[in-house]
Amino acid sequence: CGIVGYIGPREAYPIIINGLKRLEYRGYDSAGLVLSTGSEFELVKTKGKVSDLEEKSASLDKTPHIGIGHTRWATHGVPNDVNSHPHMSNNNEIVLVHNGIIENYESIKQLLIGKGFVFYSDTDTEVLVNFIQYIQSENNLSLTDAVRVALNEVIGAYAIAVLDKKDPDHIVVGRLGSPLAIGIGDNEFFIASDASPFIEFTKDAVYLDDGEMATISLGKEVDVRKIQDNVSVIPDIQELQL
Ligand code: GLU
Repeated sequence: CGIVGYIGPREAYPIIINGLKRLEYRGYDSAGLVLSTGSEFELVKTKGKVSDLEEKSASLDKTPHIGIGHTRWATHGVPNDVNSHPHMSNNNEIVLVHNGIIENYESIKQLLIGKGFVFYSDTDTEVLVNFIQYIQSENNLSLTDAVRVALNEVIGAYAIAVLDKKDPDHIVVGRLGSPLAIGIGDNEFFIASDASPFIEFTKDAVYLDDGEMATISLGKEVDVRKIQDNVSVIPDIQELQL
C-alpha cells in the first residue's frame, strides 16, 4: 500500500501515476487518485492495478497541479471500487487517502450516523474523512486544525493525506505507525510513502516522525507539528543519496 501526492507548477497526474507504480512493491489490491482544480475534485478509483487506474483515467482533465493518490491493501471491507481510496466526506469538500487502520472506527461511525452522516463503503477510512468534516463544521476550524483534533480521537495506525475544497492550496498529512516522506523542491512539494516517487525531482526530504503532521502550502515552508499538543517542530531536511 502507498501514498503519493503533489502540489506545485507541474501536472500532478503523471507524478502520481508514476509514483504509485514505484510503490507497487509494497503490495496492494486497488488504486485511486484525486486531482484538485481549485473548485472541483476529479476522483478516479478502481479495484486492480495502477495500470487499470490509468485506463480509467483516460478522459480525466490532467491539467491540475494538486493531487493525491493511493494504493490500498484492504483491511476493512473487501477490495472493490467503492472501498478504494480516496474517500470523500458527505459534503464533498474533504477528500482523504489513508494507509493503516482506524481501530475505533465503529464507535465514531455510530456517533456520525447519529448526526445524520451516510456511509457508502465498508472502510474505516470513510469514517475518518467524515469525522474530520464533522469536527471542522461543528467548530469552524481550518483543515489543519480539524485533522489534528480528529487524529487525537483516533486509535490506530495511519499515514494520511487530505485535501479540502474550501482551502485548495494545501495538502495536510499526518502519520502514526505508517511511513510518510515529504519531498521539498523549488516551490513544489511531493509526498510519498518512501522517497522513490520523487527522487528524480528533488534530493531534499523530510521524513515525518510518528505523531507528527504537516501542512504543505505553496510558497511557504512546510509547517510540521506534533499531533498531540500542536507544538511546532523544526523540519529536519535530509539530503537523499542516490
Ligand atoms: N484500512 C484502510 C482500508 O481498508 C486502509 C488500508 C491500507 O493501508 O491500504 O481501506
